[in-house]
Amino acid sequence: MVSKRPKADVVVVGLGWSGSLMAEELTRAGLNVVAIDRGPWIDTSTHTPPAVDPDELRWGQRKEFLSPPRDNTVTFRNHAGQTAAPLRDYGIFELGRGVGGAGFHWAGMAWRFSPWDFEVRSRTIERYGRRKAEDGEMQLQDWGVTYDTLEPFYDQWERIAGISGKAGNIKGQIQPGGNPFEGPRARDYPTPKLKTLRIMELFNKATTDMGLHPFTIPCANISEPYTNPLGVSMGACTYCGFCLAYGCGNFSKSSPQACIFPVLVRRPNFKVITRSCVTKVNKSSDGKTVTGVTFIDENGHEWEQPADIVCLTAFQVDNVRILLNSGVGKTYDPKSGEGTIGRNFSFQTVSGTDMWFEDEHINPFIGTGGLGSQIDDYNGDNFDHSKLDFIGGAGILTLARDGAPIAKAAALPEGSPRWGSGFKKAYAKYYRNYGTIFNQGCSMPTRSATLDLDPTYRDKFGVPLLRLTYDYAQSDRNMAKFTMDRAVEIARAMGAAHVTGFNFADKAFSTAVIASDHVIGGAVMGDDPATSAVNPWLQSWDAHNLFVVGASAFPNNAGYNPTGTVGALAIRTAQAIHQTYVRNPARLA
Ligand SMILES: Cc1cc2nc3c(=O)[nH]c(=O)nc-3n(C[C@H](O)[C@H](O)[C@H](O)COP(=O)(O)OP(=O)(O)OC[C@H]3O[C@@H](n4cnc5c(N)ncnc54)[C@H](O)[C@@H]3O)c2cc1C
Ligand code: SF4
Repeated sequence: MVSKRPKADVVVVGLGWSGSLMAEELTRAGLNVVAIDRGPWIDTSTHTPPAVDPDELRWGQRKEFLSPPRDNTVTFRNHAGQTAAPLRDYGIFELGRGVGGAGFHWAGMAWRFSPWDFEVRSRTIERYGRRKAEDGEMQLQDWGVTYDTLEPFYDQWERIAGISGKAGNIKGQIQPGGNPFEGPRARDYPTPKLKTLRIMELFNKATTDMGLHPFTIPCANISEPYTNPLGVSMGACTYCGFCLAYGCGNFSKSSPQACIFPVLVRRPNFKVITRSCVTKVNKSSDGKTVTGVTFIDENGHEWEQPADIVCLTAFQVDNVRILLNSGVGKTYDPKSGEGTIGRNFSFQTVSGTDMWFEDEHINPFIGTGGLGSQIDDYNGDNFDHSKLDFIGGAGILTLARDGAPIAKAAALPEGSPRWGSGFKKAYAKYYRNYGTIFNQGCSMPTRSATLDLDPTYRDKFGVPLLRLTYDYAQSDRNMAKFTMDRAVEIARAMGAAHVTGFNFADKAFSTAVIASDHVIGGAVMGDDPATSAVNPWLQSWDAHNLFVVGASAFPNNAGYNPTGTVGALAIRTAQAIHQTYVRNPARLA
């Protein structure tokens, strides 16, 4: 029997960054919000007090903050001629396990996408002609929103999260020390950039000597004590080194727990239901609106949560799976190109190089999750592609982190012994002297990339798993090789004695390789209902009281991490709901 809960103004499905930013904005505007999250309540002081936080076995190796594949996985194949099989270990989907989502254990690189990323199709045609944009494989489309429109919402997200950084472009004026290629910003970051550590000094010198433009990566590992506009205070980062895959007991890494929950949970018009998995959105009898969601609690009991407005904020894969399982919108058919749910999945093209120094002490145990130096000279469309066989590029960066001693036992120069006293000697020497250059590349969707419901495999509730059909576009592969070669040049200029380039896009795409966690698409935004699932306010074209928020809305991926853009879009959508939609519940124009 299905039990029915009291009706809410808004039900928010998933309480990560997207859900908590929306819930905060909507409850502050007076709406009654119920959030449902499939995971448990997770909090800083109970789960990651400073004394137990740096437990590499628990958080880094056993990944206790992640949702285990037995609870939530996808099936995968490279092309439609193969049979998809379930991913049975962690891979590219390192999904959050409880409230806060992946925003609790993330690294904290806090980017904005570049103006080009939002208008890839029109800007490529404008600069290089139609043939470059329509190569027969890629499926490029603009987002229906520009960087300039999103800029004030990026600013609001950065203020809530207290991002540390140095602006490179304020109102069109290039600022010394920042990224000269970034889009214009109204003002600088709320907290100053983090310290420049030794690996960054080497990178900055080498790239400057090469005529390139290094700058410090903007970080959600904040550099000084800060109180955000919601009145929540955070402490300064101590460069403890155990950050990516960990919580921050120091309250220095921005997360929903650190920045939003302290005010949200005190609001009487907010309620959170944990350990409860939403399986579908319920449609009205005329099919034009939705009436709420169905969820299953930890005892296996099925519930209906009625609501005037439904916000899916359950991360990229889960948003798409819920839509497909609910029959909202038409499933994308790669043969005909019709349908929009499941369209334009893409990942990122990661390449770079490992490097080991003989006489430099990098000391990786001093660092933060997001800290490093980057150049954007080969990112986006910041360089001339006329004679190149690809579009886009990568942020080329070095990282001041990753001192994890268990994980790094395998990071030795080629030819090093892998056991015995020779291994111990090599590891004792190179643990301190290892660095990496990581190219976080943009990625363009292909016509054949698809997300649909698997015909064979189901989860513990009997809901079909999501099936991913995907391989890199040739343009992406060519770009990853080009940027790997640039990383190798930089590593040599830094003085590394051993340099080994890597390129995850030089072979068939695999979900098993943890290259980055930045999967996107499947319910993409745009201004044409024939090619997008949601409009520029992330409102479903098929049900005007349904909003689908998160990286599922990105039509292509950039050479940056996604969360700044996820946050900006979430705030913009929430404001459109309470400022406009609730007064006139209809399609937002
Ligand atoms: C290891 C790691 C490092 C990362 N580092 C960075 C970085 O440095 N910079 C950056 O920008 N990004 C980074 N990311 C990505 C970043 O974490 C995500 O972009 C961000 O968390 C997305 O927020 P979200 O709210 O959309 O989704 P999530 O954080 O995934 O939150 C979704 C929530 O929905 C819940 N949920 C899912 N399905 C259901 C359902 N059916 N019913 C009920 N609840 C459900 C989940 O439990 C979760 O709480 C990293 C990710 C990982 C895994
Ligand atoms: S490095 Fe800084 S932000 Fe990261 S866990 Fe340590 S104190 Fe927190």
